Amino acid sequence: MPNTFRHRLLLLTAILLWLVTAPAGRLWQLSAAEPQRSVIHYITVNSRKYLRLSEIARFYKCTVSQRITSKEKVLTITNRLGQKVVFTADSVKCTLDGYQVNFCYKVIFRNGDFHLEQTDFTNFLDPILRTQTIPKRKIKTIMLDPGHGGKDQGTEQSGTKEKDLNLLLAKRVRSILQKRGYTVLMTREKDADLTLAARSALCTSKKPDLFISLHCNAHSEASVNGIEVWIANPAGVPSYGTTTLGKNLPGTKFHSSNALLAYLTLKNLVKATKAVDRGVRRKQLYVISHSPAPSMLVEFGFLSNEAERKKILSAEYQDKLSAALCDAIDQFAKVTAPKPKPTPGAPPRHHR
Ligand SMILES: [Zn+2]
Repeated sequence: MPNTFRHRLLLLTAILLWLVTAPAGRLWQLSAAEPQRSVIHYITVNSRKYLRLSEIARFYKCTVSQRITSKEKVLTITNRLGQKVVFTADSVKCTLDGYQVNFCYKVIFRNGDFHLEQTDFTNFLDPILRTQTIPKRKIKTIMLDPGHGGKDQGTEQSGTKEKDLNLLLAKRVRSILQKRGYTVLMTREKDADLTLAARSALCTSKKPDLFISLHCNAHSEASVNGIEVWIANPAGVPSYGTTTLGKNLPGTKFHSSNALLAYLTLKNLVKATKAVDRGVRRKQLYVISHSPAPSMLVEFGFLSNEAERKKILSAEYQDKLSAALCDAIDQFAKVTAPKPKPTPGAPPRHHR
């Protein structure tokens, strides 16, 4: 590779303050370390910067192992708790502590090193791994958006209409969230027509702290099943499975919050249900990219798959899905909670 394509990138911003906030035990945890400067090299491919993953691993104080065969090239970085992030060359797929997230760009293997596109690192992976970098936000009011309604049924499979299940699940989620002290707003509470624009307009006017759209999925192949969580891809990077670049929209500015919210949601849902993990995916779906709040769209499962449809129709499985989503919201709220302000009237602390 010519030297002109080999550069040095100094990541000075958050790296200077390397603080471990020790969030909930099951979250990814990094080693405590002295504040440090890290040098991460990058290569430029198709005008995008790709960071060297072995150096990102060092930045995280993680160990690295590579498996390179004629079939695939896999890089695993492991933290001190044994949690792993697994990258595969020429793939957008990555697993984080066993749960799937999808990058906007494929991981590149070049000159014996794995490389991750810069925005996939800064907007997506890094916030999930270093939750202390996510803007603090008190999570009190949550807007639930049961997908479809009225004339728009969503998918219909063997008499089961998606719009009905979405509403039923939203009501179950609402009741759990209310018991846990949240204020819950709904874009619709009955079988009513509601445009996508009207849903996002509600988010704009009511200003909830989170916007969550609830859906069930369908696929032309009946065997396809599992859970997906969608968040908006940022402006300027391609959406999942396409080369269409994201636009700058009201809902696309919450990358780091969205990344963690979606990851925690996928993890809790898959863990609770043992459903197939289809990963966190990014696309500017209308409601999540036009709603000015951290937003995600949850696909609870495929109604086109008979076994999964039967499960989703059972009260027991609905309870699992609802509780797992609420657990994820709780974990997210805990991580992003603003630090308590000092008690009014308390004397300032002096150092003599
Ligand atoms: Zn839908």
